[in-house]
Amino acid sequence: MANNIIIFDTTLRDGEQSPGASLDINEKVQIARQLALLQVNVIEAGFPVSSPGDFESVKRIAREVRGVSVAGLARAVEKDIDSAAMALEKAEKPRIHIFLATSEIHRKYKLLKAKEEIIHLAVKAVKYARKYVDDIEFSPEDASRTELDFLVQVVEAVIDAGAKTVNIPDTVGYAVPDHYAALIRGLKEHVKNIHKAIISVHCHNDLGLAVANSLAAVKAGAQQVECTINGIGERAGNAALEEIVMALKTRQDFYHCSTRIVTKELIATSKLVSTLTGLRVQRNKAIVGENAFAHQSGVHQDGVLKERTTYEIIKPEDVGHLKTRLVLGKLSGRHALKERIKELGYELSEEEFERAFKEFKHIADKKKRYLMRILGLLLVSRKWKFLLFSN
Ligand SMILES: [Zn+2]
Repeated sequence: MANNIIIFDTTLRDGEQSPGASLDINEKVQIARQLALLQVNVIEAGFPVSSPGDFESVKRIAREVRGVSVAGLARAVEKDIDSAAMALEKAEKPRIHIFLATSEIHRKYKLLKAKEEIIHLAVKAVKYARKYVDDIEFSPEDASRTELDFLVQVVEAVIDAGAKTVNIPDTVGYAVPDHYAALIRGLKEHVKNIHKAIISVHCHNDLGLAVANSLAAVKAGAQQVECTINGIGERAGNAALEEIVMALKTRQDFYHCSTRIVTKELIATSKLVSTLTGLRVQRNKAIVGENAFAHQSGVHQDGVLKERTTYEIIKPEDVGHLKTRLVLGKLSGRHALKERIKELGYELSEEEFERAFKEFKHIADKKKRYLMRILGLLLVSRKWKFLLFSN
């Protein structure tokens, strides 16, 4: 199956807008190198005109990172586009990403501009950017709250002006899956030249729906997904790259598409981003959380030990986890304890095991903590003792 979904990573642009996250230039370059290893298709490296630091980091990433497109963000004004073009000069595959708000709320309160003027500015900006590069992406900001007929006009006009990708952002996280999918289908149906451009989606997680909305859009025909590592980003964040990629991979039977992402690099990338931004990943986070492949219930542990797929839909190794983790706690059963004792290199008779199991249950119960993990098992003068360490 062709790798037909383009993964556009915006960890270094939208992700860095996370309250509390700020990266220096070297850290950004380090993350960009890891993203190239992960084989994302596009790295949005920053917003060059916004600060000298952003300009410099886009410039360095453009110069040093190979095998991916590098994008720089710009408003629909010449000085932004000039700055993005200068920063991207040495990129192997440069992309200028222009945005301009189109929704009524933004037109009325932020831009104070009429519809005709918005179309005029968008077209002018795309044409201007074409002087520098071929690969232009245009985003009608707040697209999901824009009137469909006006959005159709804007998208058609920017494609005519030369935009190769049209991104339909759910800037404020307002969309829900059925609505967002219908929006994508509406554009495919009404924009006459839509076949000349890639439809991209960019979702925010204000209602916890960023990934669901992105996937619904893919099903409706979107070919590029914009996302960030660990789902970091403005406010509640962006669609999480690792969740998008693994949903498409795990449910290929349903989506019939794939990405070129080297999924074994997901954990390493997640850890790097979390360490450098200081934004910790919650334990129960899908795919990359510490508990994503940990089982504690005795019934589940027994099932996984008999056949992994009884309770696991993804092989932990496929995303870079070492392996399934069976957490020993008060709900664990004989099977899991037996396995752990074997791993630790001990062989017990049936009678010894029963004694050990009883004592283990006793201690686990007393501790009453799910986080308890048995790390060691010691034999002291023919009497089993368990060392429990909390983590
Ligand atoms: Zn955004």
